[in-house]
Amino acid sequence: MQISDKKVASINYNLKNDAGELLDSSEGAEPLVYLQGAGNIIPGLEKALESKQVGDTLEVTIAPEEAYGPVHEEMIQTVPRDAFDGVEDIDVGMSFQAETANGPVSVVVVGVEEDTVTVDGNHPLAGQTLHFYVEVVEVREASAEELQHGHVHGPGCNH
Ligand code: ZN
Repeated sequence: MQISDKKVASINYNLKNDAGELLDSSEGAEPLVYLQGAGNIIPGLEKALESKQVGDTLEVTIAPEEAYGPVHEEMIQTVPRDAFDGVEDIDVGMSFQAETANGPVSVVVVGVEEDTVTVDGNHPLAGQTLHFYVEVVEVREASAEELQHGHVHGPGCNH
């Protein structure tokens, strides 16, 4: 069976950045299970997996536009330290929920100055070219309920 719209695919994968550093991997964990054609995974990977079948392996390089998008400079902001009322030590790398006009956004501290803190609301992989090594381990039909919900049901699903 080939991967196509409305099929559920299980994949093992390694994800590296341009520098060859391992960013993410299914190794030592369960394969990633997703519904093809439902936007469950990034567009570039979904396209690359179209028509692949069990046992196929592929290496795919995905530009930011087909992955997590470009870095939006306006999402990097410098805010007064007072905005972190109640937080004693603020360090680079800490993440917070920020309230915005579009709802809560997860931001990461990228700079700490005397009176201000710089936070970045971009996805951690925004602006990055991604290199995936993928192995297809299972392909099956989606159930009617999975198609209705637009995602895969299985262990860990809470409904
Ligand atoms: Zn569901």
